[in-house]
Order: sequence, then structure tokens, then C-alpha cells
Amino acid sequence: MMRAMSNPARTDVVQPQKLARQNGRWQGQVALAECERFAALVGRADDAEVDVRLGFSQDEQGHCRLTGHARADVLVECGRCLLPQRVSLDVGIDLCIVATDAEAAELTGALDTYVLAADEVSVAALIEDDLILGLPHRVCERRDECPHRPVLEYGTDEAVGEPETNNPFAALAQWRARRR
Ligand SMILES: [Zn+2]
Repeated sequence: MMRAMSNPARTDVVQPQKLARQNGRWQGQVALAECERFAALVGRADDAEVDVRLGFSQDEQGHCRLTGHARADVLVECGRCLLPQRVSLDVGIDLCIVATDAEAAELTGALDTYVLAADEVSVAALIEDDLILGLPHRVCERRDECPHRPVLEYGTDEAVGEPETNNPFAALAQWRARRR
């Protein structure tokens, strides 16, 4: 983990605008627990870390751009069989950091934005949404291979249609709703 960042007590805190002016980079590990919303979705992985590589730059419009990767091995509950499955996530990061919601609204559709009113932010906060969006649509690769897929007594093909979501827990909720 790089130790030369802004705050010696929190080495995963960065100053994006400053780094962008310097074409700075950040590379290191972030504790999975720092990404609270993501950690809640992937369940037990207390000591797990996310490998992060980020590059900061200013684009032609003067926006602070953030590109890179976040990689993590996590356990994700299959929305169908409910068993935790090991998933190796490798998500690309490509964000434009803006100061206000209004700026973000101007860029909507062109770029993914991250609204940051302060000078500094944790790396965990910058990568968390992309980690969540990177969770697989289905954890068990093929329906037939899901080791404990539910038996539908009234089963039809329609009843086992694929959920239209990246969130395994939303998928679970949809599936439960169908069974009622
Ligand atoms: Zn499964």
C-alpha cells in the first residue's frame, strides 16, 4: 500500500483533484469491510481485501477522470440455490469526479460520475458502486449446474425465467415473489 498519500493515518484516502493535476496513481489493497454496502452483499469475507489500481487525470474539459481496476475474490450467495459461491470479480473503473449533482446531471449518459463535494475521499467509496454493479447476474454458471436449484411443483419454463438484475438478493426476492 502506498504511504505517501495525504493522510498517514488513512492511506486509502485520496485527493482526486490534486492527483488528477499530477496524473497521479494509487495502487494498493482496500479492506473489503471498508466497502460496507458491497461487503453486506457478499457476506462472510471478514479479512478479504480488494486489489485496486487507479489512475487520475484531467480530461480536455478539465474534468477529473479516474480509470483503473478493482479485483476481489468474494463469496456470493446464488439467488437460486442460496449457496455461497466463490466469485473472482475484476471490474473496470471509469469515473468522472464532479463537485455537484448539477454537474453530474450535465454529464449523465456521457460518463459515469461520482459527486464529491470534499477535497478527499476514500478509495473504498470510489470503487464501491462498480464492485456492486460487477456482481454476476447468476452465480451458478448454468441453470442445470446449480447444485440445489429449487424444485417447482407447478414448474413451467416461465417460472424459472432469468431475473433482470445484477443483484443476487433482488433476484432472490423476485424468485420468492413468484412462488407465492
Ligand atoms: Zn446456485
